[in-house]
Amino acid sequence: MKITRIETTEPAPGLLACRIHTAEGITGCGESYYIPSAVAAVIHDWMAPRLIGAEALDTEGHWRFLYERATNFGARGTELRALSAIDLALWDIKGQVCGQPVWQLLGGRTQDGVRIYHSTGYGRGLPPAPGGMWPGYGRMGVPEPLNDYWNAIHEPAAFARELVADGIGGAKLWPFDFAAHKPNGSLYVSPADIEEGMKPFRAMRAAAGNTLELMVDGHGFFQLPMALRIAAAMREVSPLCLEDVIRPDCVDTIRDFRERCGLPLAVSEMLISSEDYRLVLQRQAADYLMIDPTWVGGISQTLRITDYAQSFNVPVMMHDCTGPLTLLAGIHVGVARANVAWQETVRMLLRISYPELVTAVPAVVKGRMVAPAGAGLGAAWQDQWFQAPREVRVSRI
Ligand SMILES: [Mg+2]
Repeated sequence: MKITRIETTEPAPGLLACRIHTAEGITGCGESYYIPSAVAAVIHDWMAPRLIGAEALDTEGHWRFLYERATNFGARGTELRALSAIDLALWDIKGQVCGQPVWQLLGGRTQDGVRIYHSTGYGRGLPPAPGGMWPGYGRMGVPEPLNDYWNAIHEPAAFARELVADGIGGAKLWPFDFAAHKPNGSLYVSPADIEEGMKPFRAMRAAAGNTLELMVDGHGFFQLPMALRIAAAMREVSPLCLEDVIRPDCVDTIRDFRERCGLPLAVSEMLISSEDYRLVLQRQAADYLMIDPTWVGGISQTLRITDYAQSFNVPVMMHDCTGPLTLLAGIHVGVARANVAWQETVRMLLRISYPELVTAVPAVVKGRMVAPAGAGLGAAWQDQWFQAPREVRVSRI
């Protein structure tokens, strides 16, 4: 199963789509998110000489070689995103060769599907924000049926009732971000801003009762005193967990926050490296590990971190606000591992964006995303994204 060609393109802003072709005609699909031109450069300028002409089924051998050589330079970001995209595509090839979904190759099912919560991301059709697309600065946009950023803030009760009617078990909001965007906002959130941020949570709790779990994402904006202030307010609505309310770049401070706030913490898609996850687990700084499968190093590394969390009896949440194969990677590991508690999803992405990008999106049944049935990842990039006039980078034999 010799690798003959690697292609990358950018089907949506920030999204890196990858295809690996083999001499036998099997094609694997991969993905990562964030600065796709840089990820493509790592793949074509640095990884392709190892991969082109090599055996496609040597998934772990390629992973170890590329990871170890990349970390000679302290790599955590772009290199791991590139490795993630390659890893997904190689698992996709392996699954197709075996005629089995990837979750079957990871040990088979531990659960029929993974419980999902809807995150209030949006951004569809919006022009780039002035000054750039900074993480945590997503735009609210205009009222539309699936613009849940707008819905959650302006029509929280109706939004909560819609989710409950659809059988969705949880919702994640970020109604304190506006306060962080103010000058020195990470250092001071006024009592009035706290009240403003609590309004949608109170309305959703009143509308949905205890049938909907509530979560807050702080996008790593706040330092310890203001993170504690937000947590104190959130106790009123009994959230499932707080995510990245505090900047996650000091494990000891996260642990301090966890002990003092008295609420469960999800930590954190921003960590990326397995060493950071080890520290978080060993210092008991998390109630849930939050993993993004196409940032940490693909399915291979997501599996290792998930298994390590299992040894601490710490459940895992899978991140996705970004792309369809990131979601699929989370679901494949999620159905194959008993400690994956939740998969993040976004309604607009599931219903509009992802069907335009890939050939299949897993179904949601009774609030759970079911195990994909097809061989490999169970979905491929729609051909149009790799055809002219799209810009496609190619490495070949
Ligand atoms: Mg987050």
